[in-house]
Amino acid sequence: MPEETEYDLVIRGGTVVTAGSTGQADIGVARGQIAQLGGPMRGHAELDATGLLVLPGAVDMHVHLAASAPEPGKPGFVDTFETGTRAAAAGGVTTVGVMTFPGADESLAAAVAQQRDGLRQQAVVDWIMHPGVITTRDDSRADLSALAQAGHRSFKIFTISLDLGYPDLVGLVAAAGSHGMLTLVHCEDQAMIQFSGEQLAAEGRTDISQYPASRPEVSELAAVDRAIAICELTGSPIYLVHVSSRRALDSIRRARARGLPVYVETRPMYLDLTDEVHSTPGGARFAGQPPLRSASDRAALWDGIADGSIHTLGSDHAPWLLADKQDPALDATTARPGVAELETMLPLLYTNGVATGRIGLERFVALTATDPARLFGLYPQKGTIAVGSDADLVLLDPARARRVADGVGETRADYSIYHQREFVGWPRYTISRGEVVWRDGTADAAAGRGREVRQGPVGLR
Ligand SMILES: [Zn+2]
Repeated sequence: MPEETEYDLVIRGGTVVTAGSTGQADIGVARGQIAQLGGPMRGHAELDATGLLVLPGAVDMHVHLAASAPEPGKPGFVDTFETGTRAAAAGGVTTVGVMTFPGADESLAAAVAQQRDGLRQQAVVDWIMHPGVITTRDDSRADLSALAQAGHRSFKIFTISLDLGYPDLVGLVAAAGSHGMLTLVHCEDQAMIQFSGEQLAAEGRTDISQYPASRPEVSELAAVDRAIAICELTGSPIYLVHVSSRRALDSIRRARARGLPVYVETRPMYLDLTDEVHSTPGGARFAGQPPLRSASDRAALWDGIADGSIHTLGSDHAPWLLADKQDPALDATTARPGVAELETMLPLLYTNGVATGRIGLERFVALTATDPARLFGLYPQKGTIAVGSDADLVLLDPARARRVADGVGETRADYSIYHQREFVGWPRYTISRGEVVWRDGTADAAAGRGREVRQGPVGLR
């Protein structure tokens, strides 16, 4: 008789998928890590994964959460670190990257320290922070250096800050690169957007159906080209968040062909919806920055998803109450940006990508877990299923169909842009460091159990 090791948890009978392999294997978990893959084992607890896909927990490097919800009557993102990371668990996401910006008159270092406290108290899955700036200050450079010393490996900027007249931002990107940090860039040209809005206003066409025209594709392209130029000038690697258009992606492909370290994220809604939804009743609910684009752009993003020119999927989870999103006082030029996507990201990609045959399961894993983990220095602790990795797993049910509905879920956002849509491939179980944090529709995770992940070198090598 072969010796059977007993583990804290054994996950039995599932199809285990990584970015490079697919096969049946039992998984033994000990002290929060994967201890054995395949072969005889028994578990103190056992989980039957027959018929389920066992994937690395998703690594979503783009979420917007806060220590506290906005005061009643004050519009803002409604998920706290606790409710947002619980939504992550429900969506099969086991590591989040939290955008961390200073408030008015706050330094970057102070913002990071304060939000770290909140995350430590509240997070239910593991996390890192992306320190970022909109405006720059005299102490920004010193703060960035101190954050790098403390182990931070990412930095978030907006090209809008350059349009607002912060040329020292280029120096900050250079400094970030010299500190071994990856700079995340939101690419939209503010001057062009302002011009477009003024033109719409002059023509009396600022109703929400004009939202896509208020932030045209060329404003993204111009900003992407500027970000690429900054990458070339400084040698600092950049990660372009929520790329939405064909022409931006083509430009990025050319930059990568020249050997520049430019990495690309896209966002679930761009893979599903197109710009005409803004002309439907309640069209403001879909507003994001950049806006939804054409069917041709959507097709180009799918090509990028399949061929590897898009590296990651990030939810850009930005949860609102519908009443605030659809405030009748707002128009195409003032719409509140952002949508909640943490809980629907994996089923959306499974339904539109895997179930249609556009991508295989291993590519699904690369996009949602392995490549974001590698890019942000979390691999192989996160983003794969291997002996010694954290036991962060999502058990997807490829046969489970469920209809999305407004107000259903862990997020405090009270609506979904996919209301009444049916997706397949929902998480049955989400496991974080060996602990089941989501089981068949119920979250079971204590606030504060999530840990900050120590980052190693960033980028794909
Ligand atoms: Zn964002």
